[in-house]
Amino acid sequence: MSAPDEVTDLLQHLIRNACVNDGSVESGQEVRNADLLHAFLGRGGFDVERYEPAPGRRSLVARVEGSDPRAPTLVLMGHTDVVPANADRWRRDPFGGELIGDEVWGRGAVDMLNLTASMAVAFRRLASRGFTPRGTLVYLAVADEEALGAWGAGHLCAEEPDAVRSDYVITESGGIPIPSPTGVKLPIIVGEKGSHWAIVRVKGTPGHGSQPWRADNALVTAAEVVRRIASYRPATQIHDVWRRFLEGMDYPSEVVAPLLSDDGFVDALDALPLGMARQFHACTHTTFSPNVAHGGSKINTIPDAVELQVDIRTLPGQGVEDVDAQLREALGDLADAVELEVPSHDPSSASPIDTPLWDSLTRASKRVYADASTVPFLTVGATDARFFRRLGATAYGYGLFSRKLTFEDYATMFHGDDERVDVESLHLSTDLWEAVATDVLG
Ligand SMILES: [Zn+2]
Repeated sequence: MSAPDEVTDLLQHLIRNACVNDGSVESGQEVRNADLLHAFLGRGGFDVERYEPAPGRRSLVARVEGSDPRAPTLVLMGHTDVVPANADRWRRDPFGGELIGDEVWGRGAVDMLNLTASMAVAFRRLASRGFTPRGTLVYLAVADEEALGAWGAGHLCAEEPDAVRSDYVITESGGIPIPSPTGVKLPIIVGEKGSHWAIVRVKGTPGHGSQPWRADNALVTAAEVVRRIASYRPATQIHDVWRRFLEGMDYPSEVVAPLLSDDGFVDALDALPLGMARQFHACTHTTFSPNVAHGGSKINTIPDAVELQVDIRTLPGQGVEDVDAQLREALGDLADAVELEVPSHDPSSASPIDTPLWDSLTRASKRVYADASTVPFLTVGATDARFFRRLGATAYGYGLFSRKLTFEDYATMFHGDDERVDVESLHLSTDLWEAVATDVLG
């Protein structure tokens, strides 16, 4: 590898800018990464627009205009923010952007500054050699993905739709090689679960903590509410993406059969590694995770109110009423004793599987992994793809990775400790974007 390696160098700088998004509007300050990328792209043969709906929350849109207005528009989209990191738990500085051996270390190395960097490099390479496609190529570097996208992709799709309207979008987070009996399988993320955030308010009667006999203690009731939600077992839903994924994996039939059955599914999870079992379960079930409790005021006072926050993730086709019904079922006779509020409901979204973009990603991937095939997957977290699906685009999550790190490694590094990526993976993705843009845009 000849120095300096542009994609490695760019990723290191993106990490060092530490655009940490803690959910507050003042955080993120993605203007640093937007300006870094703007300077990196340079000029010549394309337009660049900047959008900053709140101070410092800057996103960048670079566009090579196609010659044929009827030809498709392809967006390569990376987010420029990262989640916080607890440096005490890391073996290296999470914002050092160090190159250790052949790995770049730091927050964002796999979520998703790696792809943001490789997409920028591919865009610059194409533009600088006078790429004149029939379709239009857009590079989009967005703020605020890690806090629901209100200051990034969500803003652009709602307020500036003409700037980002597209036929095809590629963003995070697929492509991590999964071994199978018939060779490597590369998941293309074609959809994602929805998020439904519920607040459960539990009431009680205040009293003196010295006399708890038969007290109506809101905290004690809340404990039972939490227990019921945590032990609730929603029905398994074998949906189309799941079926296509599992059939594509070529696992032995004794593994596949229970994982395609409404009845045997949960028992079959026990035989799988925990990380995989969690993914598979979440992919086929509505999930309920009680994550925050606020209640009580003083050690000698019986509390009269507790507020619980429950993170609920929904499957395709589920609306507010469906979740409400499941929550009531989970709570049983306590359902009428609590107040429910839903501050946010963002439904699941999915794109079709059989598209020219799918075929192009598959062909380009086979040039790297001759034994590979692509399989569809429904990601269990939220990504910016959902905004574009609602505007009518086919949006996938994808990238290419070397065989160096395992699926389990990646699963633990997303928002976890010691996040890192190897240089070969960065090169594989850069080459992929170039090939797919050339292929899809003609
Ligand atoms: Zn991400």
